[in-house]
Amino acid sequence: MASRLCLLLLVACIAGAFAGDVIELNRSQREFDYFALSLQWPGTYCRGTRHCCSKNACCRGSDAPTQFTIHGLWPDYNDGSWPSCCYRSDFKEKEISTLMDGLEKYWPSLSCGSPSSCNGGKGSFWGHEWEKHGTCSSPVFHDEYNYFLTTLNLYLKHNVTDVLYQAGYVASNSEKYPLGGIVTAIQNAFHITPEVVCKRDAIDEIRICFYKDFKPRDCVGSQDLTSRKSCPKYVSLPEYTPLDGEAMVLKMPTEREAL
Ligand code: 5GP
Ligand code: 5GP
Repeated sequence: MASRLCLLLLVACIAGAFAGDVIELNRSQREFDYFALSLQWPGTYCRGTRHCCSKNACCRGSDAPTQFTIHGLWPDYNDGSWPSCCYRSDFKEKEISTLMDGLEKYWPSLSCGSPSSCNGGKGSFWGHEWEKHGTCSSPVFHDEYNYFLTTLNLYLKHNVTDVLYQAGYVASNSEKYPLGGIVTAIQNAFHITPEVVCKRDAIDEIRICFYKDFKPRDCVGSQDLTSRKSCPKYVSLPEYTPLDGEAMVLKMPTEREAL
């Protein structure tokens, strides 16, 4: 039995090697149900920055991001689980070279660590998101370019930072805001209920969800306020103090800057 399994694995590897760089990693994962656009709050994430490197956007001084930035566009199942690493498609940065300005600005890495790729190597944050999540977005996306372009467009069309700003929820190291008020502001703007994720009382991520045709929909688990991962009733949106000591406060992009 064991030798039969070894033989099957060997045949699969050889078949994969001859199939170019697209190798089915996990055929058993069924098609996803919806997308979650996961947005991270730099003020919370960057507080974990202990040292700087050129790729860490927390270290850009006065250019460090002060708005929610993209973590990823994630295919999810309605039962709360999700597929990952669906087939082998090694990330190629040159395929998205024309999107670099937008990616650097709105989808920067907020860390110096090199995440692992699906097949065990180390790579970029974008590579990690494409391989882990992007490859599971078929049949909507089949290539990196469309995955990253559509994610940027969705992000620019649903400006969560601006929605919170208009409702009076701005970065602050002293204010606490009602979680219900933050959720209501997003419900009023997009007519859907988001998922909010906290690190202690600080908002870490806000996720807004979409059908496969990109019409907004509720995120799974978003109906029950108490089920939101670890968020207390009152939450904060911390400012970030970079390692050089200059405090970052929320700054709304002008229309020109947003383009
Ligand atoms: P954490 O355990 O920190 O919540 O999540 C770790 C990683 O698991 C995330 O960065 C993401 O790659 C994946 N993950 C967590 N929650 C979800 C989810 O609801 N949907 C999907 N598709 N991935 C998730
Ligand atoms: P995930 O939690 O999405 O499975 O893994 C994210 C990986 O990317 C981790 O290894 C993390 O260190 C790395 N990473 C690099 N930049 C970022 C970032 O801006 N946000 C998050 N959440 N992870 C990042």
